[in-house]
Amino acid sequence: MPLYDYKCDACATRFEVNHPMAAPPVRVCPECGEHKVRKILSTGGIQIRSSGSRQSAPPPPACATGGCAGGMCGMG
Ligand SMILES: [Zn+2]
Repeated sequence: MPLYDYKCDACATRFEVNHPMAAPPVRVCPECGEHKVRKILSTGGIQIRSSGSRQSAPPPPACATGGCAGGMCGMG
């Protein structure tokens, strides 16, 4: 879940919120309750994974693991 940095313009409180990307952003300051919260760029809290690191090995075929006992793959 992404970590977002927020800052309240009313009381200068800075806080971080974990919420899904699809969730609406925080609008109300948890400290003073003012609707002056704005999202700021995090300087170090967000870890961005490179998209190239997502490698999922395909599952082995059923006949290689002894899973096709019924000869469904045509190799048995
Ligand atoms: Zn505030």
